[in-house]
Amino acid sequence: MKKTKLSLQRMAQSFKHYDSITYTYSGTYIDRPLAIVLILILLPCFLINTLLALISRKSLFSIVRKTDALNQQVILHSFSCGLWVKTAVLFDICRGKIAFCGVPLTHSLSPDIQFCILNQIKSKAGIFSLYDLHLKIGLTVMSKAQLLEQQLNGNLADYLTLILKSFMSIFLYGQTVNKLKNAKYLSLFGLRVNNASMDDAVKWITDTDTLNDKTQIGFFINVNSINLSIDNTQFFKELSKANALFADGSGMRLAAKKAGYLLNGNNNGTDMLPHLCKRCVENKQSLYLFGAAPGVADKAANTLVSQFPGLNIAGTEHGYKADNNDEQIITAINNSGCDVLLVAMGSPLQEQWLLEHRDQLQCHTALAVGGLFDFYSGTISRSPMWLREIGMEWVWRLLQEPRSKFNRYVIGNPLFLYRTFFLGLVNTGVK
Ligand code: UDP
Repeated sequence: MKKTKLSLQRMAQSFKHYDSITYTYSGTYIDRPLAIVLILILLPCFLINTLLALISRKSLFSIVRKTDALNQQVILHSFSCGLWVKTAVLFDICRGKIAFCGVPLTHSLSPDIQFCILNQIKSKAGIFSLYDLHLKIGLTVMSKAQLLEQQLNGNLADYLTLILKSFMSIFLYGQTVNKLKNAKYLSLFGLRVNNASMDDAVKWITDTDTLNDKTQIGFFINVNSINLSIDNTQFFKELSKANALFADGSGMRLAAKKAGYLLNGNNNGTDMLPHLCKRCVENKQSLYLFGAAPGVADKAANTLVSQFPGLNIAGTEHGYKADNNDEQIITAINNSGCDVLLVAMGSPLQEQWLLEHRDQLQCHTALAVGGLFDFYSGTISRSPMWLREIGMEWVWRLLQEPRSKFNRYVIGNPLFLYRTFFLGLVNTGVK
């Protein structure tokens, strides 16, 4: 069968005119051998489940009907009782009814995209998909259709790594997404956190409908800021004074899960910036970049302007000026007429600076964004996607800056887990 690469965007634009050449999604031929190996490993568990079904006079399997993103129907089996009941799906994989990786079962795509895919590629529904992986970690860098496109264009190695990453994410973050509560605001570590999706967060930043006479302040809270706020009550109080706190990183996802909540997004500044720039271009709003080493904010501004034509960067300023220059900096920011101010000086300095000067600022929104400009200027490289897909971006940052990040990650991460899971501090009510 002739192979062609899938480009959903191109096809969706001209889907009535293209030649229909179908190919099969690479990798699915390893499904059966892999499923057999796993069945053999899990045989003792399956025997227990069979015995339990016999004793309780239940049928061995129960059936679940699902519809995948391409509107294809699939019938899945699970054990009626016993251990790891969902592993019965391995028999469905052996029978070729579903693949390990394939079309996601968790959402539906628009009919034109469905039409394009179905006419270009043969792919079954999958128990794992790139979309599900990104959903679990809260990554919002690609649309549903782009994720499916990237997945279906992958080769055998991509197929195998997707299985591996999916198993790792189940191991690290569990599978209980459906049992978690969803709420607009969460109380985590005594702080009121906006449970915003990336879209909600960008809307909050750029929406000028709500008339505020004061600049609204938003912070991204992560493992490091929570650790700092527990060690330093003054910093805790400062975080509480923000108009919005957005949860950033896989540590916060784990903590929210421990508190029984599903986080709607991984709202880190670095993933958010492209969405924010896009919205600023649409709304004709401008950004001011303040912070990082001399020259870094300028470089980041150049990169952003070339990536988002029409983006208005109202000004830049580095973050190593002596204290007595604050007035000058604030005057420059206000004179620029910027709508959104990004302050990148690291925690807790950036949060303290913003709270101290919030009454003097005239922009609509100001955000504390940490090392954001270092990434966009190319000073520090962003972690590869596979590490981000398993929520381990911090490992990359540690490797890049082992000295300065040692305490934060090597000491801070286990401490955060201890405080979350053993001391239960995540459940502290909002003060
Ligand atoms: N920084 C600054 N002024 C200072 C101290 C730090 O502008 O007095 C900058 C530093 O150059 C870096 C950022 O603040 O660009 C801190 O990044 P960090 O990695 O600590 O932030 P994270 O994203 O990890 O919170």
